[in-house]
Order: sequence, then C-alpha cells, then structure tokens
Amino acid sequence: MTTASVSSRLATVHFNVDDQAHIEVNGDNCVGCPSHPCLNFCPSGCFTAGDGGKIDYYYVGCLECGTCLIMCDRDAVRWSYPKGGYGISYRF
Ligand code: SF4
Ligand code: SF4
Repeated sequence: MTTASVSSRLATVHFNVDDQAHIEVNGDNCVGCPSHPCLNFCPSGCFTAGDGGKIDYYYVGCLECGTCLIMCDRDAVRWSYPKGGYGISYRF
C-alpha cells in the first residue's frame, strides 16, 4: 500500500483564487470563544490567532470541506462555495 503525508497530498491540489472571499469570519463573535477550536480543526490552517481574542481568517488555501461551518457553534462563520470556476481542484 502506498502512503503519503498530508502535506504531500495537499501539494497535489490546485487553487484558482477569487478576489472575493467565499468565507468570512465575524471576529467579534470569536471574543470569548472558550477554546478557539478552529485553530485546530481547519485542515488547511486558514484560522490563526488574532489580537484581543479575535481570529484572523485567510480564505486562500481553503479546502471547501465545510468543517468550520459545522464546528463553529457561535455563528461566526459565513460560508459559501466559491463562484463557478474558482476555488480548489482536486486532481487525484
Ligand atoms: S470556533 Fe468560531 S467563534 Fe470560536 S474562534 Fe473559531 S470562528 Fe471564532
Ligand atoms: S471549509 Fe474547511 S478548509 Fe476551508 S476554512 Fe473551513 S475548515 Fe478550513
């Protein structure tokens, strides 16, 4: 059986990045979020710790898995797929 690391698998995907973000995070909702789970559950590391308990989000590299929409229980994530022709292309 062939095995490959997550990083080597991620290197096989292609992104056509739209100027307009398909996911937005309301950082005000993140203040007081007890454990900031998005820092761990996003497989692409799109969420990073910001100032004052807020979260910085960068949509480039998003795998469109939907985990953040399901796992954020404070209604901070506005989620949609990218416009047609944009976003991730899985080649394998
Ligand atoms: S889980 Fe949701 S509310 Fe909590 S820090 Fe992440 S985006 Fe913000
Ligand atoms: S959809 Fe998946 S990859 Fe994209 S930001 Fe949310 S958790 Fe991360």
